[in-house]
Amino acid sequence: MEVRDLLEHDLGHGQVDDLDTAPPLSLLTVLSQRSGIELDRLRCMSVAGWVPWLLDSLDDQIPAALETYAFQFSVLLPRHKRKIRTVARWRAWLPRQPINRACPLCLNDPADQAILLAWKLPLMLSCPLHGCWLEAYWGVPGRFLRWENTDPSPRAASEAITVMDRRTWQAMTTGYVELPRRRIHAGLWFRMLRTLLDELNTPLSMCGPYAGYLRHVWEGCGYSLRAGQSLWRPYETLDPAVRFQMLEAAATAIHLIESRVISPPGEQATLFWSEPQTEFTNGLPAKERMQEPINYWQEAVKAINEAVAEARHNPETARSLFALAAYGKRDSESLERLRAEFAQEGIPPEFLSHYELD
Ligand SMILES: [Zn+2]
Repeated sequence: MEVRDLLEHDLGHGQVDDLDTAPPLSLLTVLSQRSGIELDRLRCMSVAGWVPWLLDSLDDQIPAALETYAFQFSVLLPRHKRKIRTVARWRAWLPRQPINRACPLCLNDPADQAILLAWKLPLMLSCPLHGCWLEAYWGVPGRFLRWENTDPSPRAASEAITVMDRRTWQAMTTGYVELPRRRIHAGLWFRMLRTLLDELNTPLSMCGPYAGYLRHVWEGCGYSLRAGQSLWRPYETLDPAVRFQMLEAAATAIHLIESRVISPPGEQATLFWSEPQTEFTNGLPAKERMQEPINYWQEAVKAINEAVAEARHNPETARSLFALAAYGKRDSESLERLRAEFAQEGIPPEFLSHYELD
């Protein structure tokens, strides 16, 4: 039975095109009853099941959605230097046109040619399992027909690309990403990646003294600046070929930061360093150098700022942070005040709804 027939005549649902994004609960319930697969698991097979980690919402009418998603973090440019953009009708990562790309090795088995939902989003260039480029194919929703290029032999992706894509895959499948310095929540990874993609698309005239970082990255991957764009448009609506170059530039940027070739001023750039950055040296061998006293207070303020940023997406962090801030506060009035302060910082109050003092 074809998917369309099964949906329309058997399950009473006429739309095939919303299956990947937001299938209605009634349909999922019937599918769960028929297949024996739990409802929660079925839900995670659509983009709707990835809210709020991969994206804040599927509603494209939220004002300042782009600003909230892509402009609260910074990697290549200092946060205050960036121009906040607002666009009408925007949703993170969902392309205007369907993307048909797949891994030639994953599709090697003619009996099991499953098209992964992750391949339908402009998130990865390579297959995280095989390290080869995803290739374009002709197909209908949910089904592979044939490769666009007649020679589908796998092409190995660069190390920078495979490292980035494996992290994205780890975020999607485990909910966190192991970075050199520490493990971060998947929500932070996706937002940081989207931030980086936007930074790479910033006109150089707006970057002031920091334009060199962008130039360095684009030269590093051998493409024209901003992948040849002169007008700004959000990543999701860019031409697919331009998006590939943007993703490759993001991978290159991460690689350059991680190998300490560049040290950009963005707040989250240090997440890619394996060791805390040492101060500039006076040229003497290390043992003869004066030991700089560690400024614990400064370190603590930095850690709290990072925790607040993560608490906006991670209920667990939000609760830990709240427990810390509530230390010594026993009366309901001060706790309420604290809740209001957390809400003001952009931490969703529902993250704290189950919070109880012991
Ligand atoms: Zn593969």
